[in-house]
Amino acid sequence: MRWTITLSALAFGLVTATSPAAAQTAAQQARFDQLVDLYKDAGVIGEPDMVDCTLSGGEQSLCIRITTGPAPSNHPTGPYCPRSIDTPPEEAGTWFYNDEVVVADGSFVERLAVLFRDDAWQMFDPETGDVILVEGELGCEVAGDPDSAADYTNYCVECEVKYLSEDTSETYVIPLVPVRLEGEATRIGPAPGVGLAFNGVKLDAPAPLDLIEGNHTLGLMDSCVGHVNPHTGYHYHGLVGCEPQVAASDVDHEALVAVAMDGYDIYAALSDAETTDVDVCNGHAEQGLGYHYHSDVAGTNQFIGCFAAQYGCALGDPTAVCDASADAGRGPPPPRE
Ligand SMILES: [Zn+2]
Ligand SMILES: [Zn+2]
Repeated sequence: MRWTITLSALAFGLVTATSPAAAQTAAQQARFDQLVDLYKDAGVIGEPDMVDCTLSGGEQSLCIRITTGPAPSNHPTGPYCPRSIDTPPEEAGTWFYNDEVVVADGSFVERLAVLFRDDAWQMFDPETGDVILVEGELGCEVAGDPDSAADYTNYCVECEVKYLSEDTSETYVIPLVPVRLEGEATRIGPAPGVGLAFNGVKLDAPAPLDLIEGNHTLGLMDSCVGHVNPHTGYHYHGLVGCEPQVAASDVDHEALVAVAMDGYDIYAALSDAETTDVDVCNGHAEQGLGYHYHSDVAGTNQFIGCFAAQYGCALGDPTAVCDASADAGRGPPPPRE
């Protein structure tokens, strides 16, 4: 038995809060075991467990529930904002520019007005060359609330993991067997993000670049194309190989890099020549692998184009019950960095 029903619970017809009401199928159990193994080095807090969940389309299903902390399990994070217009690339972060990941060093900050063809950019002191930044705990507050960006015009916003509260975590509730959507796929909204890499790092929804750049604020990313907010901790906006890669069962196929919030696997980006082969969600079915996604190349500010199946939840409370249908019905929460 996977869970225990106590005598008193039986007497009152109750089971413990985390026990799934329905028995799992062999396919669900096999997938659960596979995922536990894939996430064994992800810095998981507690043990992954199997829980009832209500998916975005209202389907009652069984999900794996995994809680991870604010930092990647396999690589350091940062640096982000350059300190002056002389700061070299290795002491600074990255940003998106023309669909590419570019180094956001001192020279990048110095040239912002030119790069964005907008004279309102002035993110450094013209006398000293110092970059204007908001960092530390306040930086994390600002990073967690893009609405405050308007109050920080021409600031480089920086939040580091060390300024977050120690119990910062996010809990991912992901269907064990994908429930394919009939008809149109679901666009990627801020909730619940896109997926989870095997180092415990969230693949987040696209960063709201218009909002950020429109306020002349930058929440720069590091060389792994990740940055930090106080809700999730460190998260990715692109994949450049910092994430653990698991060799696919087919030797000629790209490596497995994450699991999407709808339960399908996400593999590394395809080469240009192969990309015609995928649907609008960046997915395709292949012999032996079934339906799966390929991540977009870093710089596009997205991983996949949409969800082809009903998605689960990313929750701030490790014990909360996932009802993604409530979320889907209510419309997406405001975007955040
Ligand atoms: Zn493929
Ligand atoms: Zn972000």
